Amino acid sequence: MADIELSSVRKSYGNLEVIHGIDAHIKDGEFAVLVGPSGCGKSTLLRMLAGLEDISGGSVSISGKIVNDLRPKERNIAMVFQNYALYPHMTVAENMAFSLKLSKAPKEEITQKVGRAADILGLGALLERFPRQLSGGQRQRVAMGRAIVRDPDVFLFDEPLSNLDAKLRVQMRTEIKALHQKLQSTIVYVTHDQIEAMTMADKIIVLKDGEISQTGTPLELYDSPKNRFVATFIGSPS
Ligand code: ADP
Ligand code: MG
Repeated sequence: MADIELSSVRKSYGNLEVIHGIDAHIKDGEFAVLVGPSGCGKSTLLRMLAGLEDISGGSVSISGKIVNDLRPKERNIAMVFQNYALYPHMTVAENMAFSLKLSKAPKEEITQKVGRAADILGLGALLERFPRQLSGGQRQRVAMGRAIVRDPDVFLFDEPLSNLDAKLRVQMRTEIKALHQKLQSTIVYVTHDQIEAMTMADKIIVLKDGEISQTGTPLELYDSPKNRFVATFIGSPS
């Protein structure tokens, strides 16, 4: 079980508050999409969930436990970044094994987990390649593999497809949804792309200027947008 509860979450950089008190609940196993225009605070919010950024006010609970003061490694969360952040001098297998090696997992466990992730993502034939020998989509899959091997309760994605071309983006959307079906994990997926949000989400959280504009299923937002911003952003007829 890994549900996420955000309660009056705030973030300031110096004197500038960029997240103004967010309340949200993401259920166990839910695919939640955080969507909104550039600069509205999506990455900041995700980084607070991951523990990569201090929380200035309010609280974040995961599985009923307040995590504000837990370090990233103590949260059982894995984050997949937009730029993949692969190690160029390591093979695909080594990239996926790296975090397990750091945490001194036994060799057999590492082999087993890397093998399982490679199976899930169709990377079996590419394990000995280096990142420079991979396509953009394959690199993105390796980045997901690095997350999967850690058996996280929660996956966080920050605009994972924005560096891919349009055709590959559509394909990867399907693959990430299939991954969610297989693993049944809780996912918070950040995008500024309303089509991604509408096609992938169980629940959409629309963020504007550091505040939630509306939360709902894709259909709810499309049928009953609360305000003009949501209507325009989601593209529903007005
Ligand atoms: P998004 O991911 O939705 O594009 P961000 O979360 O990156 O937005 O940024 C939200 C706001 O916080 C922006 O106004 C941005 O300039 C500001 N911001 C983000 N990171 C920092 C930082 N390290 N220092 C100061 N301001 C920041
Ligand atoms: Mg961002």
